[in-house]
Amino acid sequence: MGVSITFLGGASTVTGSKYLVQHDGRSLLVDCGLFQGYKQLRLRNWTPLPFNPDAVDAVVLTHAHLDHSGYLPLLFKEGYSGKVYASAGTQSLCKILLPDSGHIQEEDAAFANRHGLSKHAPALPLYTRQDALDCLPHIKSVPMETVFQPIPGWRVSLRSAGHILGAASVLLELAGRRILFSGDLGRPDDTIMYPPAGAPAADTVLIESTYGDRLHAAENLQHELGLALHMVAARGGVAVVPVFAVGRAQAVLHAIAQLKAQGQIPHALPVFLDSPMAVHTTHLFENHVGEHRLSAREAHALSHGATMVNSTEESKALAARHGPMVILAASGMATGGRVLHHLEQRAGDHRNMIILTGYQAPGTRGATLASGARSVRMHGRDVTVNAQVVQLQSASAHADAGQLLQWLRSMPNRPDQVYVVHGELPASDALRASIERDLGWRALVPEHGSTWPC
Ligand SMILES: [Zn+2]
Repeated sequence: MGVSITFLGGASTVTGSKYLVQHDGRSLLVDCGLFQGYKQLRLRNWTPLPFNPDAVDAVVLTHAHLDHSGYLPLLFKEGYSGKVYASAGTQSLCKILLPDSGHIQEEDAAFANRHGLSKHAPALPLYTRQDALDCLPHIKSVPMETVFQPIPGWRVSLRSAGHILGAASVLLELAGRRILFSGDLGRPDDTIMYPPAGAPAADTVLIESTYGDRLHAAENLQHELGLALHMVAARGGVAVVPVFAVGRAQAVLHAIAQLKAQGQIPHALPVFLDSPMAVHTTHLFENHVGEHRLSAREAHALSHGATMVNSTEESKALAARHGPMVILAASGMATGGRVLHHLEQRAGDHRNMIILTGYQAPGTRGATLASGARSVRMHGRDVTVNAQVVQLQSASAHADAGQLLQWLRSMPNRPDQVYVVHGELPASDALRASIERDLGWRALVPEHGSTWPC
């Protein structure tokens, strides 16, 4: 029997990445992500998996973003008892992200119970902070560019994918087949991450397609952010910046540090990083010098260019402050976290500005804001948006359509089949068409839940 792959997430959507490879009675799960965004997608997190977690032999993660790792605590709760292999950077980040995710699930459930928002009584968290802590010891770090065998005879190696700290593409070799998972690919011109490594030879490729139908504008983050912050500071407003705690928070902090150093925004403009998770991640950059573009001095400066807000009390105290100031808080698509409180408080004032910093998955509040909606639902009520909403064109951590094709072109061979994943359907299908037209390779967009040979 040949090797097969089942697409259990990240198929015609950017979230929930889970790819189950099966051969000869053994199985390996590549990525174990949460669904986010539209409610119908989020509900999938509650649907039992179509396989027995206990029967999976091993898990490999491409990177730590929750849409690739956030289902892990649940997988263990449901009976998985094997190891999870990931790069050292991913392992470090999971220690920050997963417990926080559990904490947010608990808070959401508690909030729903207090305010009677759930049809379920009582509303339960998908998993708890403790569930997340329990799964961390099972994550084992493996070096990049080194072959390991999570299952005897299944040879796996990671190579840098840019994108965020620790992000990797995964090459799996078994039964004479080479299967390449791109993971999320960074852009070659990212301000803090190095470009993705070139793609190795493979027979089957899964490539992400977040921006499969778009090219990034020729803007640079520092310039774009500088204009926005200058404007909001001049009118005494507050800039609320939803940031991904891992990746975009550090890119924005680095840009702010440079803007201040070059006198392009007032040195005295107060900047707050209101996310314990982002604060921890920012410190982590100092421990992983060499894995990103920042020098030790620049990595150090990240932590000192802004006031780091840890406790809930400090976070609440920000509400009493007047502008001008900049508040960076997670989550990056305003799906949860402390940024909601800041948006709720600041969105009504026309002097203020909401600065969106990365991809906004459809169905998230970030996407609603980006579309120009003048009202957005938060904590069970409709909040009027009078603040200016700015979407930075340059803040993406993903390669665009041209850069994705470039990565495929770097392969030394022509693969038998490309599966286009991790994108909304229009983006995935546009990339599929480009691959067929420009490269002349076979490509298809798999349906959620479908199984294909590889
Ligand atoms: Zn990612």
